[in-house]
Amino acid sequence: NDSIYDYIIVGAGLFGAVFTQQAVKAGKKCLIIDKRRQIGGNLYTENIDSINVHKYGAHIFHTSNREIWNYINQFADFNNFINSPLANYNGKLYNLPFNMNTFYQLWGTQTPLEAKAKIAEQCKKYDYITHPANLEEHALKMCGDDIYNTFIKGYTEKQWGRRATELPSFIIKRIPLRFVYNNNYFNDTYQGIPVGGYTPIIESMIKGAEVQINTDYFENKTYFDSLAPKMIFTGRIDEFFDFKFGKLEYRSLHFEHERLEINDFQGNAVVNYNEFDVPFTRIIEHKHFEFGTQPFTIVSKEFPNEYSKDSEPYYPVNDERNHTILGKYKELAKAYGNISFGGRLAQYAYFDMDDTIEAALEVARKEFKFIK
Ligand code: UDP
Repeated sequence: NDSIYDYIIVGAGLFGAVFTQQAVKAGKKCLIIDKRRQIGGNLYTENIDSINVHKYGAHIFHTSNREIWNYINQFADFNNFINSPLANYNGKLYNLPFNMNTFYQLWGTQTPLEAKAKIAEQCKKYDYITHPANLEEHALKMCGDDIYNTFIKGYTEKQWGRRATELPSFIIKRIPLRFVYNNNYFNDTYQGIPVGGYTPIIESMIKGAEVQINTDYFENKTYFDSLAPKMIFTGRIDEFFDFKFGKLEYRSLHFEHERLEINDFQGNAVVNYNEFDVPFTRIIEHKHFEFGTQPFTIVSKEFPNEYSKDSEPYYPVNDERNHTILGKYKELAKAYGNISFGGRLAQYAYFDMDDTIEAALEVARKEFKFIK
């Protein structure tokens, strides 16, 4: 055929970049396009006077998959940052995830035995819930009233814009109860922040491909379709199919970034605000991701809101209605053998970065039968 490229990759986020890296390595000619003014998708970090600002929200790399950890370490040095967010509720600070520190701060319990007894007492009245049908039932059965009402209900309902009784419980699986004094939010073997931010990783992954930013696939679909026999599509799957089965819902975020002329605002990278009435879910202080010593600081307040055409899609909404619609799009996608749909938007999945890399490498493996 007379195509100019072997692959066109729509979207220069993590999925697109990983696939591109593999394709270039396999000797393929690639064009990667993105409608934004910069590459990196929501991983994009901007270096502002030596602080790497996570412009689309905090990204902390963590995985237990050694292959994925080795893979990402080819593109950056990772520091030993450990995510230990705090929770602010009614002006009081607590440690997360739920561990012996949290229990001490909540109830004054000091030993694992005391904490377990307290939680058993809190959960007793929810024994009748044998098969939790939603996030609220799951959380109450697992941790009882105090933890649920202080840390979970308000945060969850403002983040998702839905009642906790309407949400699936897997959303919360990453905050289990822990009976040691350990504030490491994640349970994974490997964790860190790339020194210098995420944007250089994406840059180095797509080196060797042709890159066009400020380029909206949907404004010139027929043209882009003609450039390569195969496509990796990482945008919204509902938009790809012109919303023919209806729109999928996403939660969105907006950030208020602010520079402050003090060296430290909150003494920690992440502080959650767990009350429903506080309109933001967390404040990120970016310098702490890289142990910065600048005389000033940059903080970002994160406000959740419903996705509309003027905002960016962040989280898929995992409820019945959306899953039914998604199923129809997935079925339709099977007929497009020359297109791989990948990433948070095209797979409509609440992926972490390691999941995204794994999924992209899997597609590459099928295409090129090797991985490195
Ligand atoms: N969550 C919570 N309280 C917290 C932090 C998290 O209830 O202080 C729950 C909440 O349901 C949220 C989910 O855990 O939607 C995942 O939150 P996390 O901040 O870990 O996810 P991210 O937005 O970073 O992917």
